[in-house]
This record gives sequence, C-alpha cells and structure tokens, in this order.
Amino acid sequence: MKYKILLIIFIAQYLFFPLNTFAQISENKITSISFENNALTINTLGKITYTESRLKDPDRLVLDILNCSLESESLQRDFRSPLDENVSVAEIAKGHVRILFFGRASINRKSFLSNNDRTLVTKIARIDAEPDKSDENNQQTSLERELPGKLKDILIEHKSDESEIQITTSKSTKFNTYFLKNPDRYAIDLLNVSPPEKPLPQFSSTPLISGLRVGRAANGVDATRVVIDLSKPDLECNVSSTLIGNKIKIKVKAKKQKEGSAKSSNIKVVIDPGHGGYDTGAQYGGFDEKDITLSISMKLKKELESRGVKVFITREEDSFLSLAERVDITNSVKPHVFVSVHANAMKSTRTIRGVETYYWTKGSQKLAYYIHKSILNDINIPDHFIRRAQFFVIKHTSVPAVLCELAFLSNHDDRKLLTSSAMQENYAKAVTDGILKFLDIDTRPIEIKKPVPEKEAPKKKEDKKSKV
Ligand SMILES: [Zn+2]
Repeated sequence: MKYKILLIIFIAQYLFFPLNTFAQISENKITSISFENNALTINTLGKITYTESRLKDPDRLVLDILNCSLESESLQRDFRSPLDENVSVAEIAKGHVRILFFGRASINRKSFLSNNDRTLVTKIARIDAEPDKSDENNQQTSLERELPGKLKDILIEHKSDESEIQITTSKSTKFNTYFLKNPDRYAIDLLNVSPPEKPLPQFSSTPLISGLRVGRAANGVDATRVVIDLSKPDLECNVSSTLIGNKIKIKVKAKKQKEGSAKSSNIKVVIDPGHGGYDTGAQYGGFDEKDITLSISMKLKKELESRGVKVFITREEDSFLSLAERVDITNSVKPHVFVSVHANAMKSTRTIRGVETYYWTKGSQKLAYYIHKSILNDINIPDHFIRRAQFFVIKHTSVPAVLCELAFLSNHDDRKLLTSSAMQENYAKAVTDGILKFLDIDTRPIEIKKPVPEKEAPKKKEDKKSKV
C-alpha cells in the first residue's frame, strides 16, 4: 500500500511538474517524431525538458523543447491531421526545438511525458460542444478569426541621425523581435501575417540601414519576417506599435554613449529581464512575471546608468527571447556583470516568501553575495538564501553572472513588493549597490552583519519554466 502511494506520488510529480529545474544541461536529441491517431509522439535520447505556451487568436500550442536538437534534418517537417490540425517541427535556435500546433479553435491539445521522461506525447481531440448546427456557426466564426493579416506597406525615412521603418498590416498584429549579430541585423516576425501579394517597391538605403528583406519566418511559426540590415555596429533598434496595432514602427539610431563618473564609465553590465512575449513566467494575482521583471530591469538600467555604468539589456519590450539568445547577447557584449531578473513562485504553498540569489560559476559567488546582502539591507524581506543552480543563462554566460529571484509572486506580501513602483525603485538601487560593491567602485560601504548561509538548491517541484 505504502509502495503504491509512493509510486503514485512519483508519477504525479512527473505528470504535474514535468519541468525539472535542475535537469542536466547536456544536449539531448530527438530521434523520431510521428503523428498517428491524433497524437504527436516525440522520442528522445535523454530526458525531455520543455515549456508549454498557449496562444490565442488563433488558438495555438507552442512546445519549446530545450537543450535539445533534431538528430536529422528530415525531422524538421510539418504534419496535418484529419482534424485539420497543423503541426510544425523546427529547430529554431541551436539546442531549441519548437513544436507548433495550430488549426481549428475547437481543438483540445494536451501533452504527457512518459515515465522515463524520454517520450512526449501531445494528444489532440475535438471539443465536442453543441449539436450540429451551432457547430457549423462555431466553425464559421473560428475561420473568420483565423484569417491571417496581410503585410500592406513598409516605409523608410531618415531624419538627422535616426532612421525609421513603418510597417503597416491589414489588422492588429502581434510580433516578436530579434537582434541578430554578424552582421548586425534586426528581425521582426509579424505573427499570423501573410507576405505581400505583390513585391514591395524598391527600397533605398539610409545611412543606418543597408538592406531590407521580407519573407516567411524561418522557424516554422506562421509569420512574415522583416529583416533590417544595419549598416554599422553599435546601433540600437526600438520597436513600438500603434494602439490599434496595425502600424509598427522601428527606430534605428546610434547607441547612446552616456557620460559617466570616471570610475565606472568603463563598466559594462548586461541586465536580463526574465521571460517575455508568450512566455509570461509565473502568473499570480493578475500579474505576469514577465511584466514585473521588465519594469524592475528598466529601473535598474536607469539607476546603473545614473551611476555611470554602461548598460545593455536583453529585451526592452514585451518580446520573446530564447535563453540561448540571452546568452549570445551577453557573451558578445562581454560585460563585467550579468544579472538575470526574475520573480519566484511556489505552486504548492502561498506562504513562502523571500529573496533568493542564484549563481553557478566560482567567479559569480561574490557577486551573488553582494547583491543578495544589499537587497536584504534595503528591503524588508525574508532571506531565502544564496543558492547554486545550473540555470542556463548563468551557466553559459562567460562572465560573473547571477539570477535574482527578487521575491515570491505567489505570496501576497511579496507580491506587493514586486508590484509597487516605489519598491521596484528600491530593488533597482539595492541591486545597483550590490553590483558596484562587487566591482569595488562604490565608496559607500554596505553593511555586512553576518555571513549569509549558503545552500545547495534543493530539488523544488514548482514550475520554473524557461530558466533551464
Ligand atoms: Zn522567472
């Protein structure tokens, strides 16, 4: 009997918490993919780590399989089921396989991991709603909703030291952006938008933009990709969209060279706001982790800049960025410090609170210590300890790197800290103080009362989606 219960708990753990935060980072491989009887079956050599996102309008399911590649290129392909479900499999970045399910609105999609974590099955089924006639109506409305938008126009303008690209689509459009290196270019994926029917008029280059291309997104997503070739390094691109959402503007200009204090002006810091885009992070009390991490990160950027530090940020808007992209940005900037900003969450209990600071490499331990201590000094929050864990972004960055879980979004009191603008400022100041203390360029001492206990991270069951 006892054995049975233990077995059930063991299985339940894998059913409900398939994302083992501390899973091995070593590369996994997909060896076969099949689609039969309305189920997609993926087999891998090692344990599967994946995140799942559901997107609306049209309904889609995105499975991101991390630290995993396709064994052969022939596995990169599309499927279509009798239920009109489309499945597209693509390795969108090195070690990042994305499976996209899309089709009718009335489809239920559910994923299961096998007991050994090496087979992932996604079953699709029709949601059998009402009898025939209303079903027909449903189909019609869902078809209407799924009609893709069209790319209508792209305008380019150059004024003094800034180039602006304006993309017009036939309807409100969601998008993802990517800054790509070697050579520098900026890509924007217009989701559920089809390319223009006629080729766009010949485009003339500006002092900052040397080329512009339009095509299908390469990563299997139902999107049109616009790629802007930048004519020189150290340019920044800021994207914004109109309220109605059918015009997207991208401003290209030279990166600001901030005048800084003599001591810290050579210091570079990369801030990484956790999650973004369809990856919301933890969700509690009507708040998305991705918004909190961005808001605090922007305040942290401002604070560091006011102290003369040159700051790079992995995302400045609500866009999806893979973990590999975050690492690539950091390793190309080669900053003195990397800080990934997150909010913690615990599914099983809402009472846990506190600040946790993670590091992995030896050279990052001191950085974790100073930031953690500084937060505890400035903010009235329990100590949830400094911990070691192999989160992707702190394992693969080649500089002192920490991941800060500033507080628990799942706890009522901690959530107040995370969402209050004044407290966000305090976090920004505290993290800045910690960084500067680590770099030993701040004259203001931070008080260190007692050594911070250090613990190996326990195997936690809560869901920390895209950190590994
Ligand atoms: Zn997070």
